[in-house]
Amino acid sequence: MLRRAVKVAIAGGLAAAGAHRVVGALRRREAGGVRVMVVAYHRVTHDYPSAAREGLSSLLVSATTLRRQLEHLARTREVVSLSDAIRILGSPPPSGPRRDVVAITFDDGYADVCGVALPLLEALRLPAAAFVVTGYVGTERRLPHDRLYAALAELAVRGLTPRQAGLRSPLQRRLDECGALGPAASLDLLISRVPHPELQALVDALAVRVGQKEQELAPGTRLMDWDDLRALAAAGVEVGGHTVSHAALPLLPARRARREVEGCRDTLRDRLGRAPRHFSYPNGVHDPAVRALVASCGFEGAVTTEDRENVRGGDPLLLRRKMIWENTTLGPAGYSRALATCNLEGVFHALRLARAVPGEYAAEGTHG
Ligand SMILES: [Zn+2]
Repeated sequence: MLRRAVKVAIAGGLAAAGAHRVVGALRRREAGGVRVMVVAYHRVTHDYPSAAREGLSSLLVSATTLRRQLEHLARTREVVSLSDAIRILGSPPPSGPRRDVVAITFDDGYADVCGVALPLLEALRLPAAAFVVTGYVGTERRLPHDRLYAALAELAVRGLTPRQAGLRSPLQRRLDECGALGPAASLDLLISRVPHPELQALVDALAVRVGQKEQELAPGTRLMDWDDLRALAAAGVEVGGHTVSHAALPLLPARRARREVEGCRDTLRDRLGRAPRHFSYPNGVHDPAVRALVASCGFEGAVTTEDRENVRGGDPLLLRRKMIWENTTLGPAGYSRALATCNLEGVFHALRLARAVPGEYAAEGTHG
C-alpha cells in the first residue's frame, strides 16, 4: 500500500510536469510519426475483490476500471481495429499531424469478454479483437493456466509447497523445480518450461491430488461458447486465433505446433464463416519457426506480450502489446488518473520504473 502511494505521488508529479507529453513526442518520432499501441486484457469482472481471491489477479480488470481505462485511451488516442493498426504500421509516414492510435485486444476468450466487456465496447463505440482457444469454446473445460493456478493455490492453502505435492515421479520432478516459489511464480515457471502434453498431464494429476474438478472452478474462468463468439463477430469484434489448446508453441514438435495453429484457424473459419486474420502466441512465447508457421497459415498479424512501442515498418507477426489489468491504474484510493497517464503513456517505462515483459522464447513470466 505504501509502495502504491509513493508510486501515485511520483506519477502525480510527473503528470503535472508534463512528462507524458515529452515521452510522447520522443516515442512518436522513434515510431515514425505516429504511436501505434496495442493493449491486452484477459478477464473482466463485476466483482474484482472476489475474483482476485479465486484466480490470477494479473489477468483481471473490473468493469468500472475497464471503462475508465478505455475512456482514457479514447481521450488520448484514436481507438482503431487491430487490422487498421497493422495497416498504419505498414504505411508510409503521415504527411501531416496524425493522432496516435491504439488497438484493444482480449486474450483467451473468457465468457465475461462477451458478457461484460462487449456492452461497454458497444456503449463507447470502440473496436476490439478477441483471441480464442478453439478446443475450449463451448465446453465447461477451463484453461490449463487457470486450473494449474487453482491447484497450486489450494496446495498453498493446505500448507504444502509444490515439492510436497506427492505426484508420481516425472511429474513431481517438474514441481520440484519450483522450489519455494508461490503459486503465481510456480505457474510462470511451469508454463514457460513444460511442453503442453506434459503440462496437461501435470494439471490433471494435481487436480486429482487436491480434489478439484475443472467445471467447479471459479465461474469467472468460464470461456465463451460459439453463440457468444458469433455475437462478438456480429458486433464488429475481430475474432483471432490463440491455438486449439493454449499450447506454448516453441516447446512443441513442428507437426504438433502446426496442428495447433491450423486447427484453430480452420475451426474459426468453419464456425464463424471467415478465416481469422490475427493470432496471439499463447504465453507470449514464439521463435522464428513459430512465426513462419503462423504466417504460412495465412495470419496477417500476430501479437506478443512484449511491452514495448511498435515501430513503423516493424514485423506484423511481432506486434508488441501492453498488458493491462486492475493494478495498472490502481492507487491507494482507487482509480488514479496520474497512474493511468504514467503507465498507459509509457512514462514509467521511459524512466525504467516499470518491469519490461520479454517476448521471444526463452523468456519467462508472461500470461499471454
Ligand atoms: Zn492466453
